[in-house]
Amino acid sequence: MVKPIYKQTLANSANLKDYQQAKTELLPSHAQPKGLLSGGLNIGFEAVDRHLGTPNEDKVALRWISKDDQIVNFSYRDLSKQSNRFADLLAQLGLPAGSRVFSLTGRRPELYIAAIGTLKAGCVFTPLFSAFGPEPIRSRMEIGEANLILTTRSLYRRKLKTWWRELPHLKAVLLIDGNPDNEPGCYDLTTMMTNADQERPCHHTQAEDMALLHFTSGTTGKPKGVIHVHQAVQHHLLSAYYALDLKPSDIYWCTADPGWVTGTTYGIIAPLCLGVTMIIDEAEFDAERWYRILQDQHVTVWYTAPTAIRMLMKTGEELTKQFDLSALRFMASVGEPLNPEAVEWGDKVLGMPFHDNWWQTETGGIMIANFPSEPVKPGSMGQPLPGIDAAIVNPDKDGVPQVETAPMQVGELALKSGWPSMFRGYLHQQKKYQHCFADGWYLSGDLAMRDEAGYFWFVGRKDDLIKSSGHLIGPFEVESVLMEHPAVAEAGVIGVPDPVAGQRVMAFVTLKPDISADETLQQELLGLARKRLGAAVAPKEIAFRHNLPKTRSGKIMRRLLKARELGLPEGDISTLESDEL
Ligand code: ATP
Ligand code: MG
Repeated sequence: MVKPIYKQTLANSANLKDYQQAKTELLPSHAQPKGLLSGGLNIGFEAVDRHLGTPNEDKVALRWISKDDQIVNFSYRDLSKQSNRFADLLAQLGLPAGSRVFSLTGRRPELYIAAIGTLKAGCVFTPLFSAFGPEPIRSRMEIGEANLILTTRSLYRRKLKTWWRELPHLKAVLLIDGNPDNEPGCYDLTTMMTNADQERPCHHTQAEDMALLHFTSGTTGKPKGVIHVHQAVQHHLLSAYYALDLKPSDIYWCTADPGWVTGTTYGIIAPLCLGVTMIIDEAEFDAERWYRILQDQHVTVWYTAPTAIRMLMKTGEELTKQFDLSALRFMASVGEPLNPEAVEWGDKVLGMPFHDNWWQTETGGIMIANFPSEPVKPGSMGQPLPGIDAAIVNPDKDGVPQVETAPMQVGELALKSGWPSMFRGYLHQQKKYQHCFADGWYLSGDLAMRDEAGYFWFVGRKDDLIKSSGHLIGPFEVESVLMEHPAVAEAGVIGVPDPVAGQRVMAFVTLKPDISADETLQQELLGLARKRLGAAVAPKEIAFRHNLPKTRSGKIMRRLLKARELGLPEGDISTLESDEL
């Protein structure tokens, strides 16, 4: 496994120059961008074309499993030709480099081909969740000034048909499964692909050209359009090499929906850049199906999210035991805090711990990780990646961030600005972007602590922090203790106004199947929390729920729990997924 030797050499480096040095000195050539012959840089080229003429050319790049279990394989050469065709059809539709290409589809091969083809054409790729309703789709397409959208006939009919012509920038709708009704302005993808040039050369993009526009998950408010450039690929490669331990021999499965940033960075770009075989499952979560895929596809590296892990835990160990998961060698998780309980469950039931790592849409790639080669600390997010300078900061009296040098101080998690996959802006919100930076630091909006060994511990989002009787309480700590109880499947903790304490802690809990909520259990949970956390931090109230409100990327929306509890307006709920309370 790759040892993060950077620690001795790179402890304090973070600007791009140092990063370049880190890359050349410490990374093998297959984990560095190759660059275009012209001297430019293009993510699509790095993902696919770099493998042409190498032993990877004919290996399976993408293995797609359809909902009804059909398997279709694409080699790196196939992906190269198909993505060239896609790039060419964009040109045929009159879309020059820089145009905005949106996708609205589930995990279908066409989505992956389109993403790479868009990047190779020098256009900007934006994926949307296919489960979005018409309104969130429209608002994102308006903000992002979409020029083209790739979708299916059924999604088009249900979600776009009545209004897309009102969007001033939108020139075309590309339909994956044909345009039998000859809708004007709609094009059949298959016909266009057949007539396109499979040898079209990659556009000569430069490192700072815009490549991706991603919308954030909307956990804390209105989603923001986050801009990334081709330079980001440098960190996509480095982070997948160090934090996910990806090697060309790996069979890799990232379960993230293509509608959010993990689905692009680690569900398309990074694994392909490193030459792995990538598994794509069209279907939604189903515990038995997931175990079967891990077993039958001999998945070696698995990247998933806490919400899925908790659902597997909820299903129970008996099911796990029916499958042979011996090919698995590394498992990682992202998106939300991973409770220690879940890390240990991996160890006990699947034979290895989950490796939690932390990043954001804004950071473009993994910033902090439990490395494959280092001990996992359950409940911790891990250590910063090579070339990433992370710190805990608090403002001084002038508001200038000061680094907390003592261990286990709560403060804002900050990153020295200048890493390659750092976002270059919030679209149309320059002020908001500038507001994220102070004195050379990018301020993440998350609160955390750093221990003596340099591991970072998540406390909560700044917005979710609870202040009760002079104590600062992070919801994650309280939720993790509640999760220790065998009856609990999930927990979400908020602060509600209290005339005496300022705020008091309130917990919402879902239970494992076949367990019913009653007074005794409620008292037991309150008692457990008091014993483990002390009376000042423990929740005063516990409410049982069938479901917690979550974003489509699987994050518990604590702001919504709070708004509903207090009868306040719900705010932007365009990314809300489960809504049965
Ligand atoms: P919005 O910015 O619109 O409110 P969001 O912050 O949820 O949405 P993302 O960029 O998808 O949008 O998520 C990044 C956030 O997810 C982080 O800032 C952090 O709060 C949380 N997160 C991600 N990984 C972890 C992790 N390993 N541990 C704890 N929190 C995590
Ligand atoms: Mg955010």
